[in-house]
Amino acid sequence: MTSEQNPFQIAQQQFDTAAELLGLADGVHAILRVPQRELTVNFPVKLDNGSVKIFTGYRVQHNLSRGPVKGGIRYHPSVDINEVRALAMWMTWKCALVNIPYGGAKGGVVVEPRQLSLSELERLTRRFATEISILLGPERDIPAPDVNTNAQIMAWIMDTISMHRGYTVPAVITGKPIHVGGSLGRIEATGRGVSLMVREMARRMGRSLSGLRVVIQGFGNVGSTAALLLHQQGCKIVGIADASGGYVASHGLDIPTLRSYTDHNPYHQLDGYRGPGVERISGAELLELECDVLIPAALEKQLHRHNAERVRARLIVEGANGPTTPEADAILNERGIMVVPDILANAGGVVVSYFEWVQGLQSFFWDECNINEKLERILVGAFEQVWELAHARRLPLRTAAYLLAVQRVADANAIRGLYP
Ligand code: GLU
Repeated sequence: MTSEQNPFQIAQQQFDTAAELLGLADGVHAILRVPQRELTVNFPVKLDNGSVKIFTGYRVQHNLSRGPVKGGIRYHPSVDINEVRALAMWMTWKCALVNIPYGGAKGGVVVEPRQLSLSELERLTRRFATEISILLGPERDIPAPDVNTNAQIMAWIMDTISMHRGYTVPAVITGKPIHVGGSLGRIEATGRGVSLMVREMARRMGRSLSGLRVVIQGFGNVGSTAALLLHQQGCKIVGIADASGGYVASHGLDIPTLRSYTDHNPYHQLDGYRGPGVERISGAELLELECDVLIPAALEKQLHRHNAERVRARLIVEGANGPTTPEADAILNERGIMVVPDILANAGGVVVSYFEWVQGLQSFFWDECNINEKLERILVGAFEQVWELAHARRLPLRTAAYLLAVQRVADANAIRGLYP
């Protein structure tokens, strides 16, 4: 297979590797290799100029054995069914690995949201929510934010579903604003999880966070939060890239200033940013900078067979879903570069989504200390299990994480039995 594989073929290949090592029976292997349900919707949206445009969206539910399905909704021009299938499958393993009672799902709309006005974005969101509402519900399928979606969009979806039902249903979606049943700590949760993984790995590599040289691809919610938390703990963030290109400073970038720059930029991008000693490079060059930790926190397939040989990081922590192809994984492994896999490294988001869902169902809300403490306990616990298995069996961290996750899903599947 080549790096021209689509994300779903990649996800299947990763799963097959684990299934073979586990000796999964053919039946369960075949069941888990494909999504259980897929919905494609083509829907109209009235634009501000009065014309009507048709958009395409998807919701894929990969596996329902361990509970209702969970996973974000992304808005991006490159969304397609194979990407959504892959992302749904990865959610199944992620939820199983951190042992929260969900299966995996994902949704997406093929759209460049920056080309829409706020009211067009709202109409698109409400109509897409309506189209996929046949699948949604607190006990069925609970979406959340992903690439280019945020708390406001979650509030519109929650409101749309609630209007249909005639009463407020906060637990139908997570990542909501605090005043409508959101959870404290949810926005930062994914980036916080990434920073915890960097801390745990640094510990095992005998390094302190202070002075650790970090490069981050992506300055959205995940990348910018990880950057800030690591910066606060003494790491030097020596390079950051977003869609506008790369920004490097060997003495370390001033992360709070970068964050306030993107906060005030209408597209939340670094475009046009200038700072003392900051040089510009391309996004591709950024991935090849010399550093201790590289955090890909953007899209899939960023590290592939054409650049994996040139990566000069000692450690990779995957903030994004699927940023490393299997071919790149093999090259990095060969070169002794460790990779903390996406299903562990970025699981902080869905863990706090789980807390938000529980709080919503109980209408009883927790304080932020409590949330961050529970998040840390779950993530560090999962990390330790992965680390121990990887060492005991001399496996890459991704393979160890898959063995734990896939076994849990296969067990749930087996114990429930095959219906009818
Ligand atoms: N989109 C996030 C992820 O990829 C969060 C999903 C959720 O909170 O349900 O993990």
